[in-house]
Amino acid sequence: MSPRRQANRNSESVDNYLKAILALGGAEQRRVTSTALADHLGVAPASITNMLQKLAAAATPLVEYERHRGVQLSAAGKRRALEVLRHHRLIETFLYEVLDYPIEEIHEEAERLEHFISERFEERIAAKLGHPRIDPHGHSIPTMEGEMALQNSILLTEIEREGVFTIDSVSDRDALTLRQLKASGIKPGARLRVRKKTEAQGYLVSIGRSSAAFDLSHEAAGDIRLLAEQINLRPRAI
Ligand SMILES: [Zn+2]
Repeated sequence: MSPRRQANRNSESVDNYLKAILALGGAEQRRVTSTALADHLGVAPASITNMLQKLAAAATPLVEYERHRGVQLSAAGKRRALEVLRHHRLIETFLYEVLDYPIEEIHEEAERLEHFISERFEERIAAKLGHPRIDPHGHSIPTMEGEMALQNSILLTEIEREGVFTIDSVSDRDALTLRQLKASGIKPGARLRVRKKTEAQGYLVSIGRSSAAFDLSHEAAGDIRLLAEQINLRPRAI
């Protein structure tokens, strides 16, 4: 591999570490364990330790890392992670809105492109799209200044009662699940009626007023977030 290509590979992988720490740390940016990071990235624990030590020892450290306490992004690391996330979500929106990609294909394409676009390209995409704040999966797009709106949402798997809810976002984690969910009408903004919990910890649900009820597996339900403000009405156990 040429040195240039190797350098690109390295910065891609740094970006992916930073994004993973951002995603796993949640809204409060809790410390993330090496094990969780290894799981998320599908990388051996030894390589994780290696990379985290490197990131912590950089001239401008990107993470704060203590072997037994886990890892947290530094201010510079968080800035970079949010920038890459902004690229990712803008590219996804562009592919979906302008280039008519199917929803289940935009994530993989954005994973490749997010590391390479220039600031100018990012600005042009944002302007072309009218400076969107939400991507096609329902996720907040960080601003140019690195601010990201908190989403007041709750996982479907945390719902313990029947009712009608608005879907806030659907994870882009897995293309096949995303395609199946789309085929069932499950997408941000859709109204989801939860009828009951199934024996396998999934749900019997329907979409809108007229669709027939169908089963959602526990795993698929873990990819769906609902708008939180509707969740406290008329509790009724299911
Ligand atoms: Zn994505």
